[in-house]
Amino acid sequence: MERLMDAIVKPEKGPGLELRKVPVPVPGPGEVLIKVHKTAICGTDVHIFNWDPWAAEHIKNPPMTIGHEYVGEIAELGAGVTGIEIGQRVSGEGHITCGHCRNCHTGNIQWCKNTTSVGVDRDGAFAEYVCIPASNVIIIDESLPEEVVSFFDAVGNATHTALMWDLVGEDVLITGAGPIGIIAAGICKYAGARRVVITDMNDYRLDLARKMGVDAAVNTATEDLEKVMKEQGLVEGFDVGLEMSGAGAAFAQMCSVMRNGGKISLLGIGNKPIEVDMNLIIGKGLTLQGIYGRKMDNWHQMSYMVQGGLDLTPVITHRFHYTEFEEGFAAMNSGKSGKVVLDWTK
Ligand code: NAD
Ligand code: ZN
Repeated sequence: MERLMDAIVKPEKGPGLELRKVPVPVPGPGEVLIKVHKTAICGTDVHIFNWDPWAAEHIKNPPMTIGHEYVGEIAELGAGVTGIEIGQRVSGEGHITCGHCRNCHTGNIQWCKNTTSVGVDRDGAFAEYVCIPASNVIIIDESLPEEVVSFFDAVGNATHTALMWDLVGEDVLITGAGPIGIIAAGICKYAGARRVVITDMNDYRLDLARKMGVDAAVNTATEDLEKVMKEQGLVEGFDVGLEMSGAGAAFAQMCSVMRNGGKISLLGIGNKPIEVDMNLIIGKGLTLQGIYGRKMDNWHQMSYMVQGGLDLTPVITHRFHYTEFEEGFAAMNSGKSGKVVLDWTK
């Protein structure tokens, strides 16, 4: 008889999500079934909930289960899966890559040209069980707090963006104090940056960033960033910039306060093309690096940073049972949230 489970489903093209009974997935050859313990809501899930133009373009086949930030344990192994065991604590790399393209062959899976995403292109993790390829399973050490691991997917984006450049003794500007910007701030401090300055126009989020230990959290709608730079002892501008807002205005401001020869990694995804002052980028000799997803290597880096003392709990602002998921999405939509964690225990 078909087993059923609870899942948070996009029922059809349009706004909203529904808690439904759906069949428990059956792991095929090479796949693993994971019993989900905790999940976290990502900005992508909010796009899907609200059904904005991004969601309308990317969610092709509702009804489907959404979600891709989770921690759980291995419940079943499909045929041919070896080297991992039922009961092990796990999370999962959410990008499923082809294994055959040039980038996959050179270990740069973040640039696979045939990538598909859990919870966007195939059923996701906002459910009692999720099924993924064994090669995407990430074993998680029992010493790590499950709440924090539940959003390791986002921590991976922050890790990839932040650790792109040398940070020891460097001054870092992060534009956008969303959950990923705040996590990146913690990583930069942990990795040895001298000053970490973060900008946003949302005071609630700037306060969260302060709890994560930034040297300055600047509301650019009301404060002068260059004055703050002076107070922080910056002489020639920022050495490293992490663009985590997707806003053209933030990127323009970042370019204007970088030192000559500064390095910028770009994670934020805008909803429209932006204007760029190429002469500024050229004149300053800036290096720009686009960031997509995370490297497989980032999974062990984030585990080890947390074991080494990086405390990411300040970014968690809300905890709900999965049956209260609508409150979680309301918190995310209010702008007054960091990470929202959903508990999937019955
Ligand atoms: P978020 O939307 O929660 O946070 C973005 C923040 O930027 C908001 O707090 C907003 O107030 C702030 N902001 C807007 N305009 C600004 C400006 N001019 N100056 C300073 N701050 C400004 O996003 P998040 O979940 O923290 O993710 C960060 C970004 O990374 C988003 O754009 C997201 O789409 C993107 N992202 C990219 C990837 C990737 O693979 N490249 C993966 C995950 C997320
Ligand atoms: Zn590939």
